[in-house]
Amino acid sequence: MILELDRQSHMPLYEQIAAQVRQLIRRGAIKVGDRLPPNRALAERLGVNRSTVVTAYDELLADGLIASRVGSGTYVVAAPASPPGDNAVAADSSAALTPLHWETALPELRHEEWLANSEAARRKDCVLFTHALPATELFPLDEFRRSVERVLRREGRSLLQLGASSGYEPLQQYLLQQMALAGVRAEAGEILLTSGCQQALDLLRQTLLQPGDEVVIENPTYPGALSLFCQPQYKFIGVPVGTRGLDLDALEDALRRRRPKLIYVVPTFHNPTGVTMDLASRRRLIELAAQYRVPIVEDEIYRDLRYGGASLPSLKALDRYGVVIYLNSFSKVGFPGLRVGWVVAPRLLIEHLHALRQRSDLHGNLLAQAAMADFARHGLLQKHLQRCSRHYAQRRDAMFAALRQYFQIGASWTEPEGGMAVWLRLPERVNSIELLTQAQQQGVYFTPGPRFYAGGAQANTLRLSFTTATPAQIETGVKTLGKLVEKLMAANAPARASQSAAPRKALV
Ligand code: PMP
Repeated sequence: MILELDRQSHMPLYEQIAAQVRQLIRRGAIKVGDRLPPNRALAERLGVNRSTVVTAYDELLADGLIASRVGSGTYVVAAPASPPGDNAVAADSSAALTPLHWETALPELRHEEWLANSEAARRKDCVLFTHALPATELFPLDEFRRSVERVLRREGRSLLQLGASSGYEPLQQYLLQQMALAGVRAEAGEILLTSGCQQALDLLRQTLLQPGDEVVIENPTYPGALSLFCQPQYKFIGVPVGTRGLDLDALEDALRRRRPKLIYVVPTFHNPTGVTMDLASRRRLIELAAQYRVPIVEDEIYRDLRYGGASLPSLKALDRYGVVIYLNSFSKVGFPGLRVGWVVAPRLLIEHLHALRQRSDLHGNLLAQAAMADFARHGLLQKHLQRCSRHYAQRRDAMFAALRQYFQIGASWTEPEGGMAVWLRLPERVNSIELLTQAQQQGVYFTPGPRFYAGGAQANTLRLSFTTATPAQIETGVKTLGKLVEKLMAANAPARASQSAAPRKALV
């Protein structure tokens, strides 16, 4: 019996459970005579109190749909009347077979297309600030093709054959050497190649979390993490992000009162705010995690996209307690379509992740891993990164300049030293979703801030990525947005509000 609860809904959880069971009985997915799961087991599975399930079953009992038999469980005893037009249930088992109704076997689909604006991406006249992605025009196709050719010529037969489930070993060695240069000492059994950070996060979720467990996430945070950790079976603890990164006082308070199983952070050029956690905060975060015995999952995907300022040690490099699990990938510095990433963690955890990964897809794409290793070993990744960094720095500066010129209206924004995006806070009365609706009509796209929140979304925030638009496009797009914001402010102005613009200030 698959039920899915919507914790944002106004409908109480017990009513959602009762309504969905009713629906399943009506559609024939649960039949008269079937036994319902014991209330304790269902409560655990759904991550709710047992009393919630007891109340839901009481409702169904009152409807006459189920009955409890002492010592043997709760059974379906009748089907609810079908609403007019619902012919899904063939009450008589000898009736003609009907097509299988997949909707009764599957939970409600919750899927968001991450490249929803790909239509717009193909149009030359649009300005896309939507995605934190590398600029495709900078991809060094010839150099990468030569890497692919080299590895195919050298070891094509083994790369195209099913291989060791831990992935392409020379790439692991290369990554361990690079990590050592950045102060992270790890051995061969402490790294696993994954299909990007996203797969690593999902493997960690499955390995470290049980239904009902709590997870600390930054609020706002990367939507791919929200999609994993804000599922109904877990409880998330959203901790705000300040100018120095995760709010550690709020975190400490949460750790004192709750028992989370992991803390997910993006300490360098955080997505979406661009904020970098300073050294003292990094140290304090590790001490807190060690004190409360909660692993930190450190996502360093933007780490090497730095256009100014000094690089800071990763949490993993500072970790003396073995509490940090380190994730990274080639998606931002290289090519996200290749799906090559890695996780560095204590050996026992890597063994678990490895076993789980093997059950899912045996191993990653060896050709992609080998080509990436060759590309990096020949210094081409470093060259590509330097070229991209020059362009991205120019684009970022063009965005700062345009924001200063066209947003003299009480908006504030972050000015990160790297990464791919800027986070904006508009005057309170401007709603970024309303802004996007109007901006799209003028060919300008971005991601509204609420997309990144686990709860308590601030409607006046938005993320502008600067990597995929040229400086000229950035100027045009920001100008359009600035004008629209002014229009929206005028339209939404309260009757006697003061119109004076607040000074621009550092924000998160
Ligand atoms: N983590 C963060 C913070 C990200 O912003 C992204 C992509 N936007 C990912 C992980 C996903 O990375 P990958 O392509 O390596 O799965």
